[in-house]
Amino acid sequence: MEIDQHAAGTAAPPPVRIIPIPDATSAGYWEAAANHVLTVARCAVCGQTTLPPDMSCPHCHTTEPGFTFVPVEGKARVRTWTVIRRPFLQGFTPPFMLVDVELNDHPHIRMVAGLLDGAEAKLEIGTPVVVAFEDIAPKISVPAFRLEKSA
Ligand SMILES: [Zn+2]
Repeated sequence: MEIDQHAAGTAAPPPVRIIPIPDATSAGYWEAAANHVLTVARCAVCGQTTLPPDMSCPHCHTTEPGFTFVPVEGKARVRTWTVIRRPFLQGFTPPFMLVDVELNDHPHIRMVAGLLDGAEAKLEIGTPVVVAFEDIAPKISVPAFRLEKSA
């Protein structure tokens, strides 16, 4: 995935969130995300799943993984988290929380994403969360998570 860091250059631009730009490897992932469906990449050679899709499969190391994107339930458990209190990335207004989760149906897959319940959300290791999507640009939605009880 490439990141477009060139925000519109006006006199006093508002903070613009950087937009993921799908490439050939990640297009299927982002197409599904635009429809609010979380997917993982399945290797055509070994059948194992991974995220994010890379140029090669991390399991069998083929350089022609022919990934297909399979929907997942979108439920996960919190492994750890952090609260960001200082601005470091344009378009993100602190404080906000990032969670590191493992997917229930693919526990070897970890994701780091925003938690939409706010920086004061009460978390424990293992807290159940469910995927949610932030629509940040036309046809671009980014996965985040919510506490499952508030979903
Ligand atoms: Zn593989």
